[in-house]
Amino acid sequence: MNLEILIVGNEILIGKFKDTNSNWLAKRITKYGHKVARITAIPDEIEVISRAVREILSRSPDMVIISGGLGPTFDDMTLKGIGVALGLELVLNNEAYESIKKAYDNAVRQGILKLEGMTPERVKMALLPQGSVPLKNTRGTAPGVKIQQEDTMIYCFPGVPMEMKAMFKSVVLPLLKEKRGSFFEKSFKFSGIGESNIAPYVSDLEKKHPNLWIKTHPSIGLSVELEVSITGFNVNNGEQIAEDIIEELKKIIIILNGKILD
Ligand code: ATP
Ligand code: MG
Repeated sequence: MNLEILIVGNEILIGKFKDTNSNWLAKRITKYGHKVARITAIPDEIEVISRAVREILSRSPDMVIISGGLGPTFDDMTLKGIGVALGLELVLNNEAYESIKKAYDNAVRQGILKLEGMTPERVKMALLPQGSVPLKNTRGTAPGVKIQQEDTMIYCFPGVPMEMKAMFKSVVLPLLKEKRGSFFEKSFKFSGIGESNIAPYVSDLEKKHPNLWIKTHPSIGLSVELEVSITGFNVNNGEQIAEDIIEELKKIIIILNGKILD
């Protein structure tokens, strides 16, 4: 599958906090042989959100994961922006309403929160674009949203990393696994010689195997972890080729007086 990630939040753009969500998502999407075609970060502005969503849909990815701006405050306007982009009204979703109510009732009962009842801010989180499906938020209150738009499935997750991760694992990960590509990862660690010593050999191997993505990156301390990964689909016998490359590189490292760690 081809996926895009859309990160929504003013705080990301002013540098108040780091966008770790897209990185976390990209890692997992890639792991299952799917391609992240683009990551976009935008502010909490209806017009910008709707334009970004329309632009993404014009590229017809199989899936869009949107994170951030689903919360109770009125500066969280991701769903409004999506509604504008798709020409969908925001309507009260009963299932979402009940789950939000339950989450707040529980929080009050447990003494975590004092304010009882469905305030306008809490009701706001149950206003979803018409025809969308709410997604359970097991770690917070704002439900996620799933909207099918022609060939593209749109998922909206909260910005809070813990909530986003839980939702991704329960609704998106099974799909990624089901439609998984032939991506796999093989790696080993070595020490004693630097990344630059091995670089010319890696470049040669990359030229020989343009379908493989062979990369080295420094690991903890002085050791360097070399990673061989197949990111393309339909790489015949890719895993075996990667094994052979690893063996070849290990021999080179030993000749260069390096030490294989595992
Ligand atoms: P909430 O219900 O908590 O308001 P939300 O969907 O409205 O959820 P945001 O308001 O966008 O989420 O973000 C809430 C918090 O989550 C931010 O203050 C930040 O700490 C964290 N967060 C948001 N987006 C990201 C991101 N892309 N990467 C890492 N952390 C993020
Ligand atoms: Mg918020």
